[in-house]
Amino acid sequence: MPENYQLVKTRLQTPLDNGDTVCNLCLWRCRLRHGQRGFCQAHVNRNGTLYNLSYGIISAIDVEAIENKPVYHFRPGTKVMSIGSYGCNFRCKGCHNLEISWGVKALDKLARGESTDAWVKPEEIIELAQKHDVQGIAFTYSEPAVWLEYVIDVAKLAQQAGLYTVYVSNSYVTLEALQEVAPHVDVMCSDIKSLRDDFYQDICPTSQVSEVLTSIKQAHELGIHVETRTNIIPGKNDDPDELKRIAEWIRDNLGADSPWHVTKFFPAYQLSHVPETPHEIIETAVAQARGIGLEHVYAHTDISCDCAAENATVDDWLGKHPSEIKPINKCSASCCGSEGIVVKKFEKEAGLIK
Ligand code: SF4
Ligand code: SF4
Repeated sequence: MPENYQLVKTRLQTPLDNGDTVCNLCLWRCRLRHGQRGFCQAHVNRNGTLYNLSYGIISAIDVEAIENKPVYHFRPGTKVMSIGSYGCNFRCKGCHNLEISWGVKALDKLARGESTDAWVKPEEIIELAQKHDVQGIAFTYSEPAVWLEYVIDVAKLAQQAGLYTVYVSNSYVTLEALQEVAPHVDVMCSDIKSLRDDFYQDICPTSQVSEVLTSIKQAHELGIHVETRTNIIPGKNDDPDELKRIAEWIRDNLGADSPWHVTKFFPAYQLSHVPETPHEIIETAVAQARGIGLEHVYAHTDISCDCAAENATVDDWLGKHPSEIKPINKCSASCCGSEGIVVKKFEKEAGLIK
């Protein structure tokens, strides 16, 4: 594991004959040529090899009850330390984490070699978790697959330290990535945002509902404890019939005892004009789901997505003065000379930018 910030080889990649390389972490399966970054902005092709830009870069930390994730059927009453980085493979229009989930500015700064974001080595995350007396670590705030290299390194150390791990996902994730995480992740908290392709394609043009559902089922079949969540957005995914079909899908594919969390939408970003979800809609969804035999259905009127908007700063959590943190993140690897990480140079070389 690296001791300082550096680009880390993308864990799942397939080089093609023409120098392009396919990233197999999430279902975008971005095909990238030299200099190009993937949709998430967190992986780059340098001369035919893909690298993750955000290994060890922490955007947010928080300590809270596992029930807040929300997870109700795994180690109830325990505490988790949530961590996240930058970059997501979706562009949800009502995302509460925008600055960190899309993370475009932060990842651009990293690519330019101008980032001063905290770099935290995996061992330090475990030490921090122990210091705060938590029982688990949650990877959250954006899709962890785009940060899988770090997630797996931290999760392995967490296991050795007797901590459980939670992976909060939009489930637009490949089977290969799930197979990599399954031995090291205890719980997956998966969104089923809708059962309509047009809903998903509005936030991720390449996605299909069937792919998301397949990914959730694969996680379940790989032995990960899965709890699903649907955030009901008025006018977008609040059709009672669609909500009933989500409950039926869970019952038929994950089991009647599989927990389903129905959460309330709070207006944000491009959906600021959309009102909060009326409680009656949530209650109807819960009653219908119980009616079709789903045994553990939970209504949440105080949480929506797993957002980091009001957390203390990462510096506060690390207990460091900003001056103690490495001022600029430049790649410490020596493989491409002494320039540090200046991905823009490679993007220019590839003719992608002026
Ligand atoms: S993680 Fe997903 S979005 Fe990012 S480069 Fe890989 S395939 Fe593309
Ligand atoms: S809501 Fe979740 S999946 Fe959607 S953009 Fe935000 S972090 Fe990504």
